[in-house]
Amino acid sequence: MQIYNAPLRDMRFVLNELHQDDGFGNLPAYADITPDLTEAVLEEAARLCQNVLLPLNRSGDEEGCHFEAGKVTTPKGFVEAYRQFVEGGWNALVTPPEWGGQGLPEAVGKLVEEMICATNVSFSLYPGLTNGAIAALTVYANDALKQAYLPKMVSGQWTGSMCLTEAHCGTDLGMLRTKAEPVGDGSFKLSGAKIFISAGEHDLTENIIHLVLARLPDAPKGVKGISLFLVPKFLPDAAGNPATANGVTCAAIEHKMGIKASATCQMLFDGAVGWLVGEPNRGLEAMFTMMNAERVGVGIQGLGIGEAAYQSAVWYAKDRVQGRALSGVKRPDLAADPIIMHPDVRRMLMTMRAYNEGCRALSGWVARALDAEKHGGDAETRERAADLVALMTPVVKALFTDLGLESASLAVQTYGGHGFIRESGVEQYMRDARIAMIYEGTNGIQALDLIGRKMPAFMGRYLRSFFHPVSNFIEANAGESPIAPMVAGLKRAFETLQGATSVIAQRALKDPEEAGAAASDFLRLIGLVALAYCFAKSAKIAAQRLAEGTAEAAFYTAKIQTATFFYDRLLPQTVACFFAIKSGKGSTMAMDEAAF
Ligand SMILES: Cc1cc2nc3c(=O)[nH]c(=O)nc-3n(C[C@H](O)[C@H](O)[C@H](O)COP(=O)(O)OP(=O)(O)OC[C@H]3O[C@@H](n4cnc5c(N)ncnc54)[C@H](O)[C@@H]3O)c2cc1C
Repeated sequence: MQIYNAPLRDMRFVLNELHQDDGFGNLPAYADITPDLTEAVLEEAARLCQNVLLPLNRSGDEEGCHFEAGKVTTPKGFVEAYRQFVEGGWNALVTPPEWGGQGLPEAVGKLVEEMICATNVSFSLYPGLTNGAIAALTVYANDALKQAYLPKMVSGQWTGSMCLTEAHCGTDLGMLRTKAEPVGDGSFKLSGAKIFISAGEHDLTENIIHLVLARLPDAPKGVKGISLFLVPKFLPDAAGNPATANGVTCAAIEHKMGIKASATCQMLFDGAVGWLVGEPNRGLEAMFTMMNAERVGVGIQGLGIGEAAYQSAVWYAKDRVQGRALSGVKRPDLAADPIIMHPDVRRMLMTMRAYNEGCRALSGWVARALDAEKHGGDAETRERAADLVALMTPVVKALFTDLGLESASLAVQTYGGHGFIRESGVEQYMRDARIAMIYEGTNGIQALDLIGRKMPAFMGRYLRSFFHPVSNFIEANAGESPIAPMVAGLKRAFETLQGATSVIAQRALKDPEEAGAAASDFLRLIGLVALAYCFAKSAKIAAQRLAEGTAEAAFYTAKIQTATFFYDRLLPQTVACFFAIKSGKGSTMAMDEAAF
């Protein structure tokens, strides 16, 4: 059964208690965003997600999207849900007020995103891609394009799409072939075929604004010859209303393993009118603004699904009775004890819980950095925040989506054979979670980005945005304290991470394949240390609250128990990562290609 109640208490903990000392301060831009306001927003979002989006999750998966004669119809209920979503302003929660958005902090927005992804990840893609497109246009589009398109995209009247992938190029965008010919009046005519375009066509809105990567006639080869264009489905008339059909059509939709209610479209551009966004041949740079926003968002998909999977597994583990508890009969009134009594089932539930709470805590920190990057009080704060965002974006994307799938798989395992049967609802979480490890740059590519670009950037400056807070925390909490064992564990894991960093830095200088072979293990290692740091901080606060006396002893006690489980049972993975990294590329690359 798909169960979801937004974890509001933990969300409030992350928002109001956990990261107050992260050095980004209280941002004046959000001075009027009171705790009462954010509380009301979170509660209202939970209601919408639980009552409107969750009921459409399973039916949307069963029905999927329909395609006929170039038109895509979303599953029953999606049009109405999108209308309610937009009327409530949920699509515009964090977009700039200048364009009609509500300008709330990302620290709130990311929590709402988590609820949306937990209840209906397919639905999340329609507004999600629009927000990415808004981010790119806000920075790179000229004024005329901004005036014509941003207000309607921000209001949710029009959605956006991101058109990069072509049949022969996904990761290696340098090979893309879609062409853009200048018309002479400032516009361009685009021709080419794109595949796998999420929300490329649908029936939720009257217009769709495609952001398309293409080549100008004289463009240099490779990634330095790619430009970004805005191509609307319908060209607006003088009053700004969608009027003339543009030369862009949907040729088919894909039949997929998961996220079946999200339309994944093959798009044909046949002399479609478009306008340049940003500088010629610098399209990838502009598109990266969109992709970076999307990458954190995709990480949140992993977290959302992980939380929904966990809650559904807990419900089942309390309900299903099999065997007797090893410590003696617990429910003599029943033929057997509930499976939640079994240590191996506890292992699965605690693992999911720890991953979810850890990822929520880390995303809360990254979200605060996203806010401080824009609105920090001084240049030094903004730079430090931007560094942390740059470093953690591939970590959030890849780690959270890997763990999301792991949690979904553990939920299926908790249900036993019933988990494998569609009716249980949890197998959908596994299918829906899988794509998040692939799109927006595969997780392997995230690891290469981390190790090849982010790690060496500015002589390790991005790394320092993370290393400094961790080492300061260890130093400040090294003495006697209720969390002393955790601080000692964090110190060991942090030293392991530092050791791995220097091994990679030395070897990669001589041989880039060494870095390539170590990348995924390094991402997991730094990700686990980041979760450990967040858990140690969480446990410290929880211990303080308990010592002071609190009416919420159950919440804080559980927080310490979850953190302790993470340290005991999950953080030791760092040692395995270190040994794998240290072994080098040898056994990975030794085999002759012909032997495969
Ligand atoms: C449901 C769905 C929705 C999507 N939505 C969109 C969308 O809205 N817009 C859009 O433009 N695209 C979209 N995509 C495309 C998606 O982003 C790509 O599929 C993804 O980036 C990978 O590209 P590819 O499929 O061509 O795989 P490939 O690039 O062929 O990669 C295959 C494998 O090789 C690895 N690999 C490739 N190059 C390297 C390298 N240099 N080093 C190490 N490993 C490498 C990859 O990690 C992967 O494991 C979507 C895809 C799907 C399935």
